[in-house]
Amino acid sequence: MKIAIIGVGSVGSAVATAVQNTGLAHEIVLYDRDGIRARAAAEDLGHASAFSYDIKINSVSNYRAIRGSEIVIIAAGANQKPGETRNDLLKRNADVISDIIPKVMDNVDAKNVKIIVVTNPLDVMVMLAQKLSRLPASRVIGTGTMLDSARLKIILSRQLGVSTRSITSYVLGEHGDSSVINWSSVCIGGIALDDFCKQAKISLPQTTRKTIEHRVRNAAYEIIQGRGATWDGIGGAVADLLHALVNDEKRILTVSTVDGVGKTAVAMSLPRVVGNKGVIMNLHTKLNSEESAGLRKSAKIIRKNFDLI
Ligand code: NAD
Repeated sequence: MKIAIIGVGSVGSAVATAVQNTGLAHEIVLYDRDGIRARAAAEDLGHASAFSYDIKINSVSNYRAIRGSEIVIIAAGANQKPGETRNDLLKRNADVISDIIPKVMDNVDAKNVKIIVVTNPLDVMVMLAQKLSRLPASRVIGTGTMLDSARLKIILSRQLGVSTRSITSYVLGEHGDSSVINWSSVCIGGIALDDFCKQAKISLPQTTRKTIEHRVRNAAYEIIQGRGATWDGIGGAVADLLHALVNDEKRILTVSTVDGVGKTAVAMSLPRVVGNKGVIMNLHTKLNSEESAGLRKSAKIIRKNFDLI
């Protein structure tokens, strides 16, 4: 499978490494408007391939060379500087997506291609990419709150002393400051969280839950403060999404795609079944009134920002 990555900065490079390590691609092409950066990334990654899979890795200087790509990953655009929110990137990255999508669509098979959007503010960029590409919403997929859900899972795993693989926990809504921690659906080995805590004699009071929510929502800010940007986590998320798409795993992931049409359409993260046709089913989890209100707030913020561009 040929996979194109557009934008090869910190995130695009980490995504390329993660994609390479899945062994799912026979060819990866890297495009960046900074051609020198793309060439250097392809060279470096090519050296790494000698230790993993035989795979063709090339930088390309024009969009014609992405022809034949079945999946296009968009990781181009401005990132947050310390103190900036994802939504502060809105106008700059809307220009980036508007530049990239038509050029991608001129060179891919619209009947089959799947676009993975990573650029922030994620949900609005998914809406814009879907609108400009005219692809079905099921094939324009944002990584959404996959990373936020992973962060929640890691924190819970440490708090509860249970492997992340035995925890089902979702962060929903905006990949941003209004994300919603879906406490109502958390279960540990199929046991509801409260029951599990009783059996394990662990106390998880509201104050602790609020602290966990804060840590999940602020994880990116802390990482940006410490190392300038985040990249490893999102690399892992894209690789996971790729496995689900390429191997038709029909796994439930909190990805962002556009739901609805016209003025009420909005992209945000919900648990969705992902297979080789893209998003094949949207699911509704248990929500308490606070969580439902949180999702409505997320949808409003995303829609308002989309209407601003
Ligand atoms: P970066 O500045 O390191 O790299 C961005 C790259 O995009 C640069 O190499 C730049 O030349 C390229 N670029 C800009 N405009 C372009 C265009 N029109 N065509 C082609 N290439 C173009 O930034 P980064 O840290 O790699 O972040 C990239 C994006 O990923 C940001 O929007 C960031 O917020 C986002 N991000 C998303 C998640 C997530 O969970 N979805 C996580 C981390 C970062």
